[in-house]
Amino acid sequence: AHRTNLPPTAELQALDAAHHMHPFTHGAGLAEKGARIITSGEGCWLTDSEGHRLLDAMAGLWCVNIGYGRQELVEAAAAQMSELPFYNTFFQTSHVPAIKLAERLASLTPEGLDHVFFASSGSEANDTNLRMVRTYWEMKGEPKRQNVISRWNAYHGSSVGSGSLGGMKGMHAQGGMPIPGIHHIDQPNWWAEGGDMTPEDFGLERARQLEAKIKELGPETVAAFIAEPVQGAGGVIVPPDSYWPEVQRIVDKYGILLIADEVICGFGRTGNWFGSETMGIRPDIMTIAKGLSSGYQPIGGSVVSNEIARVIGGGEFNHGYTYSGHPVACAVALENLRILDEEGIVDRVRDDTGPYLQERFAALTDHPMVGEAKIKGMMGSLALTPDKAARASFAADAGTVGLLCRERCFANDLIMRHVGDRMIVSPPLVISRPEIDTLVERAWKSLDEAM
Ligand code: PLP
Repeated sequence: AHRTNLPPTAELQALDAAHHMHPFTHGAGLAEKGARIITSGEGCWLTDSEGHRLLDAMAGLWCVNIGYGRQELVEAAAAQMSELPFYNTFFQTSHVPAIKLAERLASLTPEGLDHVFFASSGSEANDTNLRMVRTYWEMKGEPKRQNVISRWNAYHGSSVGSGSLGGMKGMHAQGGMPIPGIHHIDQPNWWAEGGDMTPEDFGLERARQLEAKIKELGPETVAAFIAEPVQGAGGVIVPPDSYWPEVQRIVDKYGILLIADEVICGFGRTGNWFGSETMGIRPDIMTIAKGLSSGYQPIGGSVVSNEIARVIGGGEFNHGYTYSGHPVACAVALENLRILDEEGIVDRVRDDTGPYLQERFAALTDHPMVGEAKIKGMMGSLALTPDKAARASFAADAGTVGLLCRERCFANDLIMRHVGDRMIVSPPLVISRPEIDTLVERAWKSLDEAM
């Protein structure tokens, strides 16, 4: 229901611009235009302070997998807050929600990954991973293995450690990143960078950059390779089928740990519980966050292999966050996982509404401005192009064109995101067929208006 007792929108916007510093937002732009103020949510729909209803094709920030407004999660939080709002998991203490959630995750994640180190976000979890893989090799007696390889255009978080693991050049330009010992190879973005190669040859070529980088650094110095099964914030880059098997072969050959960042791909987004299953990889560590609680509480973590847990458990890992395994966040995550499972939401993404979204989304390539439409499960992107046949990009104008499309979507009460000249969808996994139709119709109309 729309709240009618709010201060006027303009007043809220002025206060927001005056006092609230927003992540990844141009300050002057915010002051000029004012933020769109979201006041409530139900299913896949949001309501703003003016009473407009928007279809949220981004599930917030790729996280509200079960949709907005689920009272069961509210009740789980309230019950846990009454019983034990906080206790820590440091220094030989534990509590029931953290124990239950760790056990539940061990049963859901691929075989051999049975141990969880909790955090409150994906950034924190990737910081844990960076320190954990380096510490693992030290404890194992191979202290030279400290280098970590990642990919350009990857997003692994915003802290100094996770931002360094990420490959966002605009982030690296600010605040002293990347820190030493982190190295990047190119992403498998065939549309933009594949030239005359077939997607399969290009996928192999990009995977083999990993082997070249390992040889350049010296295999005995490499601790781990980190990647998202499907790169998300970099523009939903679905790799060619040849890519991941070759990466897996290379990490196996050199005995290098594989960290799959499942922060977006996890919990049903790609049509399986984890993107690693969809892409057929066997990680040693999985980063989880977002869909773990459907965003209802901040929680993340690292799910690690039994071997890593054995080695790390042989000593003391001097690492942890006050809110590692926060009881309220764990209780909410458990309830979220129960709903995802009992309502067959992951199965729907694989067998029912997922394929329907894929079919409708693919048809957007009929639009004159759309080059490729790539989608896995319920994460997809459109490459905008001034010339389809030439696979041209908007190059220097990419950001302007993408932003214009996003603004047209916004005006049409559809939330999509742009990364350069790629337009992205990642809706709540509970989206229905009629809602998918609305999403695609509004996207088409917005593209028309942006031409
Ligand atoms: N890893 C991936 C793949 C992400 O997409 C994100 C956030 O978008 C993160 C890590 C960072 O997570 P958080 O924003 O919870 O710190």
